[in-house]
Amino acid sequence: MFESAARVFARISTDEPITKTEVLMGRAVVLGGSMAGLLAARVLSDHAESVLIIERDELPAAAAPRSGTPHDGQLHTLMHGGRMQLERFFPGFAEQAQAEGAILSSPFNIRAYADGTPKVSDGQMGLISSSRPFLESQVRRRTLALPNVKVLNGRARGLVFRGNAVTGVRCAAGTDEWTEDADFVVDATGRASKLGEWLESGGWERPPMQRMAIGVDYATGYFSRPEDDPELAAAIAYRTPSATPPRVATGAINAIEGNRWLVTLASYGKQPPIKELDEFRELAARDLPPVFEQAVRNEPASGIVTYHQAESRRRGYHVLKRFPARLISVGDAVASFNPIYGQGMSSAALHASALSEYLRGKPDLNAPARAFLHMQRVVVDAAWQISTSADLARHDIDGPYPRGHALSKWLVGQIVDASMTDQPTAVRFNSVTYMRSHPRSLVTPGTLLRAMRVNRRAAA
Ligand SMILES: Cc1cc2nc3c(=O)[nH]c(=O)nc-3n(C[C@H](O)[C@H](O)[C@H](O)COP(=O)(O)OP(=O)(O)OC[C@H]3O[C@@H](n4cnc5c(N)ncnc54)[C@H](O)[C@@H]3O)c2cc1C
Repeated sequence: MFESAARVFARISTDEPITKTEVLMGRAVVLGGSMAGLLAARVLSDHAESVLIIERDELPAAAAPRSGTPHDGQLHTLMHGGRMQLERFFPGFAEQAQAEGAILSSPFNIRAYADGTPKVSDGQMGLISSSRPFLESQVRRRTLALPNVKVLNGRARGLVFRGNAVTGVRCAAGTDEWTEDADFVVDATGRASKLGEWLESGGWERPPMQRMAIGVDYATGYFSRPEDDPELAAAIAYRTPSATPPRVATGAINAIEGNRWLVTLASYGKQPPIKELDEFRELAARDLPPVFEQAVRNEPASGIVTYHQAESRRRGYHVLKRFPARLISVGDAVASFNPIYGQGMSSAALHASALSEYLRGKPDLNAPARAFLHMQRVVVDAAWQISTSADLARHDIDGPYPRGHALSKWLVGQIVDASMTDQPTAVRFNSVTYMRSHPRSLVTPGTLLRAMRVNRRAAA
């Protein structure tokens, strides 16, 4: 029976507790122990006798940066859609994270600005603010506390196939090489995933890769946060695209654990990275609303950390005619977006939710996981549409433009403009950008007519 993408998305992004789980396999092996791998392992723990995570880094016992996740020093906001899934997988997650130092922002202490003008609060959706290593350590601790989940330090090097299925993973650590048997394998090795090469060398098809050049530079500083400010836990300020954009295209602040502000300045184009504290402070004061200047005036708690991402990319496993059974890929290994839009961890959480939905449907594991690939595609399409349509509005980006781009740009423009001042429109818009609802929920006649009325009144 046909089910629309919006309905599939609603099913995956539900906040209903996970029930009716059944053990369907002996041993599941997850490659990569970062956000996507940990969340997939959490889901698999309901359906496998044992789950083994293979991670190339020695995972730290507490919150600490590590070399396998070079982006972890940058600001990471967990959107509301992702937060809801973490709460499903680990009931009481937000409360526990808060007890250990994370800041739970409410809609009333998150500030958003477009071109320096404050936006109306949606009044509904809060965020968990912490450093990325802190958030990951919370997810890791809860996942590894499950009695049937273990982690092994090693590097995945390839897959073992028998007939039409994956039956194991080739691993290495130092000079040791070995094979781990598996009844189900999840690739969560991040955006540099080698799964395509492994499939090809095993006689399978390699997925097509869709790329979009974004050229984004992050510069992030940590500053002391002398006291809790009930009025401000997080802020984001962005500039609408123009032919002569300011140096800082987007700025964001999060109050994080350890009484610190985490402040990120993001810029586009061929400009030298912002590495010096003085320049960082000067640009925050010049290009962003005053709350940024106030935060960066505090004592620095680190040097400025930079990160460059050249492109967004997605791999099309769902289009392959031949795909082995007992294998899936999740998180950035499938799709990684312009980080400015904060979708990656929530996408990974929704992939895990899709995996749960697939396994609770008691699928035939000897056939390719097509039902999973279909659900995952809906999540990736939604996130890709949001991030690429915003990037395509930039003057320095020249496509590829999807069919109907001009019309959808105009429609979304109406909603974005109205969401500045109109709370009901802000709720609908944020629900999509925070990955709680499918983008199609925005293009209803009621929402569009309301947005156009609000904009006409504002222009009068
Ligand atoms: C600058 C920046 C800012 C971002 N900001 C946000 C944000 O605000 N909000 C948000 O939701 N997302 C954000 N993201 C995206 C987010 O970081 C990713 O979506 C998320 O980390 C994806 O997790 P993952 O587990 O798929 O991949 P990764 O975090 O990349 O982890 C991959 C893991 O696999 C391991 N690995 C790799 N190869 C192997 C192998 N062969 N064998 C064993 N282990 C292996 C690595 O060591 C690593 O642990 C941001 C990203 C960047 C770059």
